[in-house]
Order: sequence, then structure tokens, then C-alpha cells
Amino acid sequence: MSAPAIGGVQAPRGNGSVLRLSRGASLTDFADKIGAIPGSLVQIMFHLGKMVTATQSVSDEDLRDLGVELDWDVQIVSPEEEDRELLESFDLEWGEDEGDEEDLRPRPPVVTVMGHVDHGKTRLLDAIRKTNVVAGEAGGITQHIGAYQVATEVNGDERKITLIDTPGHEAFTAMRARGAKSTDIAILVVAADDGVKPQTIEALNHAQAADVPIVVAVNKIDKEGADPTKVRGQLTEYGLVAEEYGGETMFVDISAKQGIGIDELLEAVILTADAALELKANPDQEAQGIAIEAHLDKGRGSVATVLVQRGTLRVGDAIVVGESYGRVRAMLDENGNNVTEAGPSRPVLVLGLTTVPGAGDNFLVVEEERTARQVAEKRAAANRNALLARRNKRVSLEDLDRALKEGQIQQLNLILKGDVSGSVEALEDALLNLDVGDDVELRIIDRGVGAITESNVTLAVASDAIIIGFNVRPEGRARTMSEREGVDVRYYSVIYQAIEEIEAALKGMLKPEYEEVQLGTAEIRAVFKSSKLGNIAGCMVTSGTIRRNSKARLIRDGVVVAESVNIDGLRREKDDVTEVREGFECGINLGSFNDIKVDDRIETFEIREKPRA
Ligand code: GDP
Repeated sequence: MSAPAIGGVQAPRGNGSVLRLSRGASLTDFADKIGAIPGSLVQIMFHLGKMVTATQSVSDEDLRDLGVELDWDVQIVSPEEEDRELLESFDLEWGEDEGDEEDLRPRPPVVTVMGHVDHGKTRLLDAIRKTNVVAGEAGGITQHIGAYQVATEVNGDERKITLIDTPGHEAFTAMRARGAKSTDIAILVVAADDGVKPQTIEALNHAQAADVPIVVAVNKIDKEGADPTKVRGQLTEYGLVAEEYGGETMFVDISAKQGIGIDELLEAVILTADAALELKANPDQEAQGIAIEAHLDKGRGSVATVLVQRGTLRVGDAIVVGESYGRVRAMLDENGNNVTEAGPSRPVLVLGLTTVPGAGDNFLVVEEERTARQVAEKRAAANRNALLARRNKRVSLEDLDRALKEGQIQQLNLILKGDVSGSVEALEDALLNLDVGDDVELRIIDRGVGAITESNVTLAVASDAIIIGFNVRPEGRARTMSEREGVDVRYYSVIYQAIEEIEAALKGMLKPEYEEVQLGTAEIRAVFKSSKLGNIAGCMVTSGTIRRNSKARLIRDGVVVAESVNIDGLRREKDDVTEVREGFECGINLGSFNDIKVDDRIETFEIREKPRA
């Protein structure tokens, strides 16, 4: 490989070799792959007329231009492609039906309800749930599992329809953005008294971009001032011409409130599906599909609603869903009944996953649980890397000096949260009195008492701020959110330590050697008194893994009440164990520390040496 100079800068040339880069890669990623110094690529980009920092995410086009310059055949790999390749390495494939045409059987359409806010999406989903004529369940569908199936009679046949039970196009778009096509048909709800509105158009655009046929539900026809004809006229401008005007789109006048026109709407969905789509799937293969929603349930552990798209899912199957895996322990339908198998287009609640998957994650059944675990672990590792890449792009105290030098930031934004207002004020005073020189401005953009919340994290993301938690912790999903978004959250229990670190960071002298790594969290559900051991906490592990002998702290209402306790005893059922994973119950004994209450949170951590950047 020769290394000619471009504008006086050296970088290895590719001589036409293929260079695969993940979408959104940075110049540092590029440099790593070709054995160059990131700074040299920054300079080459500069000569190409682009100002890009080493860690910034670069557009596909710029990556390709840089490739051309250095004679590398740059190929951008999307996350979906990466995942496809990962599955391939296990001899798996997601997304295609197995077998030939004759293996395929008709399947019900999967429908999403979209439309402008307040036009009646939620009300319509309720109305459909109630008129489910063939369900045969007293009271209709009772459980909210994120999707449900109803039956309707069309030309004397009973036909099923699957409805995604989250209105709005956010869910639709989010899933599509992840390459998961979940919807066959969109019901576009337009209120007849309000007409076409901005979000009506937005929804329509999303559906058309995804090539999903639309059935228009003209709602609220019971209302005074309702003008269904006007709605038809308005939508003509957007290419949705009603059948009665010679077009191909079915419009149905309904009142979600009074239950008018619901059966006709369902019939229109079936007729549209029959006319425009050939919905078929192979029911006789290992099941595949997508996760629609998931959460951690107090008693049942990870609970996920999945939509089977092909194959048949059975209790006992080994399954991998995104980064999560497990064995299907039980399946429930929207009526809360146990089911043993679920075929194409069937949504079911799945119990038995080790962790909580994300909405839009794809799932597949594999022969052995071991394979499921391996795929999940590889995905987790890949996502971690992507996360690290993103995190490097945000401001953290460690790289503050570099960010300042590179001119990425001129001010350090901080959000302060503390256990009592006195400490927040003291911290704020002390920080504002720091002598930080002229190069950088220190701004406290928000302050408050109490746990670190999701909205604190959102603000930190929007303004590239660092969050300082003084004797407080994140609540609910704030922690996962901050990790996902790469927001630097710092915890202190001594004021001068916080000040020292921030001062050192501003002077470019912060060289942390150790960092605290979160291992697991558990919520206390019950407290048992033992004459021998003192108080024992009956817990549910809510994230990560709790290990015996690890260091822990106790948090009550988002405030740290004990800083250094120890997991002295750990039991599952009656056995002493060394670790307990997320989603499982356990008994925890904190040694001589007995001040525990129901709803307290136990957080375990360890101190690890931090790799130097
Ligand atoms: P979404 O924001 O699209 O989910 O709208 P909702 O389903 O929450 O409905 C918004 C409001 O319109 C609620 O107050 C509903 O009760 C009302 N609404 C929905 N459908 C009808 C209908 O057919 N007739 C009347 N009169 N009101 C309706």
C-alpha cells in the first residue's frame, strides 16, 4: 500500500479494496479500519472542503467521497444489514417465508389506526374492541396487550383482522424506521366536523411511503356540522379518491362514539385487503415476527407482545427477540386466556424472556436456546459499540478538554439535582465561583431537588449538558434513557469532590482511573424479619444481575439513604445463590444494615478501572 500525501497529509490508500462502514460512522471509525490517524482524515476532509471533527458522525455521501479520495471502495452498512449478516452467521434468516408458493396460506390483515389528534383514533379502537361480534367473550376484549384480533363477517365468511392497539403514526414510523413492516393496511381517521388537518396529511404520507393501502374512516358523523362529503373532496387532492367518485379508496362514514358504521369499516378493510394485497404466510415453519410492546411485570418478569408474521409460535419454543432471548413459558391472548400456539398475524403476550425487548425488535424461533442466547449477546455487543460511538459524540467530563480544544463547545452546561435544596444551592454557588478562565463559560441550565428524571435527561440531550446528581439517583427510565442517549451523569455525595472534578475537567486535568459500573437493581417488595439475620428484603431484580458480596446502596424515593452496604446474603426460594438475574425474585440480606422498607431500591455496583481513551 502506498501512502501518497493529500495536501501534505498521509493516509493508507485502498487501491480499490472494499471498506465496510456502519451507517453514521465517524472519521475515527474510518481511521481505525484503515490504520490511519483520525486527525489526518480530519485534514483530508478539510481539503475536500468539509469541516468534520474526528468523532462526529459523517454522512454516507461524505464517507464515500473520502473513500474515493483514498481509493477505498466504501460500502455503507445499515444496522438492518448488519443484523442480517449476524443472523446469517448462525445460518438464520429473518423476513422471508420458507418454502414455495403452495406452502403459503392466507393470513388476516394487520391494521394500524392513524390520523390527526382528537379525531377519534382511541375511541375507534375501543369501539372495534366492543363490537367484536364473534369473540364469544362476555364483555369483549379486556386486556391491553398492544394488539388484538377481531372477527367480522364478509360475504358469509368469518374473517379475522389484527389491530395494532396503539393509535398514531409514531409507533408505525418508529417500527418502519427499524426496518420492521408491521402494518398491511392503515385506517385513516378523519373527523367529519374538522376535516383534513396537518397530521392527517402526515399519516397519509407515512402510509403511502410504506406502500400501505388506506381505508378512510370519516368519523363523528353524529356531530352537528359534520360534512363527510367535504372530507372526501379534501382527500382527493392527496390522491385518495373515493370509490363512489371512481377512485380506489374506500371511505366509510362512522361514529366511534355511537358505534355506527364499525362493521362496515371492518368489511372495507377486508375488501381492500382482498383487492390490493395477497396476504399469505407459511404457518408451518418456525415462527418469526416483531415485538409490539414489552415491559417488566412485577410478578411475571419480562412480558412482551409479539406479532407472529410467519410460522407458528408455540409454548416451549426457544426464541430470540432483539437483544432478549428465552423459552416461551406461556402465551396469553387479548382476553387473558392461555394459548398454546399462535399462527400468522396473531398477536400474543409472551412470558419467559430473560430481559425486556424493544418495540419493533424482530423475533425468531430457533432450534436451541443456546443459539438464541448467542444471537442476543452478539446483538447486545453490537448495540453497545454503536452506543459507545454515540456517547463519544456527546460531552462528558473526561473529553471536555478535547471538545474545548477542538472548538466543539465553548460552554459547559450543567444540570444539578440534589437531595435537599441547601446542597443544590451550595453546589451551584461554588460552581459559579469557579475560576474557569475565559475560554469556557459554565452555565447551570437547570437545578432541582429530587431524583434525576426523564425530563432532566431530555434537557441534557437537547443542550448537551452534563447532569450532576448530589445524593440522588435517576428514577424510572431516566437511567436507561441517559445510557441510551450517551448523557454523562455524575454522582457525588461530597460537595468539594464535585467541584474538584469539574474544575479539573475544565482545566483539562481530569484523569479518572476508576469508574463505577452499575451491576443490577432490585426493588424491595416485602420485608421479612429473621431473628438470626435481621431484616431480609424480598426483592424483584428489575435490571441487570444482583451478585452476592457486591457493594450496594439503598435508595428511597430517588434519594440515597445508605451509601455503602453489602449484599451479604442472596437467596432464591430456599437456596443460597451467587447471582440472580433481571425478572426474578430473590431474598437479599444487607448484613448488619436493617433500615429497609418496601419500595426501596437496592443498587449494586462495582468499581472498575477505566480504560484510557
Ligand atoms: P385521538 O386523539 O384521535 O385518539 O381521539 P380520541 O379517540 O381520544 O377522541 C377525541 C375526542 O373525540 C373524545 O372526546 C371522543 O369522545 C370524541 N369522539 C371520538 N369519536 C367520536 C364520534 O364518533 N362522535 C363524537 N361526537 N365524538 C367522538
